Amino acid sequence: MLNLLVQGGTVVGPGWVEVCDVGVQGERIVSLTRSDAQALEAEQVIDARGLLVVPGGIEPHAHLAHFINQRPEAEMYTLGPEEDTVGMAFGGVTTHIDFCQIQPGASVEEALQQRTGRWKGQSLIDYSFHINFLGASPIAAFEHVPELIQSGFPSFKVFTCNVLPPKPPRRSYKVDFGRIGHLMEKVAVAGGIMVVHAEDDDLVQFNYELFSERNRTGGTNLHLVHSKLSEELSFHRTIRLARARRAAVYFVHTSASEGVEAIQRARARDEPIYGETLHQYLCHTADEYAAPGGFRFHTYPSVKLRQDQDALWRGLLTGALSTVATDEFPTTREVKLMGSTIEDVTGGNLGAEARMGIVYTEGVSKRGMSPRRFVDVTSSNAARIFGLYPRKGVIAIGSDADLTLMDTRQSRRLTRADFHVADYSPWENWEVNAWPTTTILRGQPIVHAGQLLGKPGYGQLLPRKIDPELLQRPVL
Ligand SMILES: [Zn+2]
Repeated sequence: MLNLLVQGGTVVGPGWVEVCDVGVQGERIVSLTRSDAQALEAEQVIDARGLLVVPGGIEPHAHLAHFINQRPEAEMYTLGPEEDTVGMAFGGVTTHIDFCQIQPGASVEEALQQRTGRWKGQSLIDYSFHINFLGASPIAAFEHVPELIQSGFPSFKVFTCNVLPPKPPRRSYKVDFGRIGHLMEKVAVAGGIMVVHAEDDDLVQFNYELFSERNRTGGTNLHLVHSKLSEELSFHRTIRLARARRAAVYFVHTSASEGVEAIQRARARDEPIYGETLHQYLCHTADEYAAPGGFRFHTYPSVKLRQDQDALWRGLLTGALSTVATDEFPTTREVKLMGSTIEDVTGGNLGAEARMGIVYTEGVSKRGMSPRRFVDVTSSNAARIFGLYPRKGVIAIGSDADLTLMDTRQSRRLTRADFHVADYSPWENWEVNAWPTTTILRGQPIVHAGQLLGKPGYGQLLPRKIDPELLQRPVL
C-alpha cells in the first residue's frame, strides 16, 4: 500500500502534462497512473482534482540569517530559516539555496560548519549553500575548491563590485578579476559553476561619488547609479573571462536588457552561460521608487525601465534566461523602509512566498508561458544548474516526492493574511490568478488546507553534483 496518493490533478511532468495520480512510498514518487484507472490504495489521499501539480519550487537565491551590510554599525541580520522557510513552505517552495560567506583569511571549513549548524534543526524545507568568497581572499583559499565540490557544494558566488557606497566602512564584497579568473579555473576543472553578481565596480562607485557631489542622493536615482551600462560592461567582461578559463557562469538577478543580450550572445556561441532574473524585476520599474513605500521593491542592482522589463520577459519566455529567483532578504517593514537615499536604501526582496503564484499569474496567465516552462523557471532549471536533478525539480518515478498543488482558477488580490513572514509583504495587494494550496516535501505534506504541518528540522542539507554536460555548453 502507498503512503500517499495525490489524486486527479493536472500533473506537469518532464515533457508532458496529463491528468494523473502520483503515488508516494516513503520519500519517493513510485507511481504515475491514469486517473481513470482503478485507484491505488494509500494511507492518505489528497484530492487534487482541478489543481495543477508541479515539482516543489526551488529558490536558488536566498539570504537568510544574513548580516545586513547596509548598516554595519547596527549589527542586524535578516530573518533566519526558522521563520522564512515557513513562508517558503506556504509558497510552494520545497528547496532553497542560501550562501556560505567566506571572509578573507577565514577558515572555509569553519565557515561551512557554522552555516550548516545555523540551519540544522531550523529549516522546514530542504537546503544547500553556494560558497561565497568575499574580498581579497588569500589565493591559497581557492585550493579548497575541489574538496568543497567533492563534499556536495559545487557552486561559487562572487561579487564583481562592492554594491554599496564606500561610507560607512563595510565588509568588502568585491573580488578582483584576477582572483575571479583563478577561481573560475579551479571551479571549472573540478566540475563546479560560478555564480556571479556582475556590476562594474568603477562605474558604480564613481556614480555614488558623482551623484552625491551633485546633491542627487535621492533613492529614485538608484537605477542610474546601478546603471544599465554597468551591467553591460560587467556581464561582457565576466563572459570573456569565463571563456578564457572554460568556466560555466550563472548570472544572478539579471536586471537590464543589456544583461539579457550578453547572455543570449554567449549562448549563441555555445558557451555555458545561464541567467537568473527576479519576479521583482519582472513586475516593477524604477518609476515606482518615487511612490510612498516605493523602495519596498528595491533589490540590488536595481529595478530598471519598461524596456528592460520587456527584455527580461522575452528572455524568460524564449530561453535566454533560465530561472526566476527572489534574492530573498527577509526583514521587517521598518528595516526595509529605513532609508530613502542611494546611500541607505535596504536591498533585497521579501518574496519567496509569492514567487510561484506571481510567476504563474504574470507568465502563464498573462503572457502565454506554457505550464512546462513555468516548471522549468521555478524548479527544474535551478535543480539542473545547481546539481539537484533528477532527485529534485521533476515529477518522475524515483524522484523525491516534492509536489506543489496550485489552484490556478483564482482571481483576487493578495492580502496580509496570505503571508506568513515578518510584518509585511511587498506583494500585498498584487492581483493573482494562481496560488499554492498544498506543499509536499519528500512525501510529507508540510502545508495543506491552509495549515502548516511542517516542522523545523525536517528540512535536510542536500549534497549536490552538477551534470558535466551542462558545464560544457548551454543545454537548457
Ligand atoms: Zn543576492
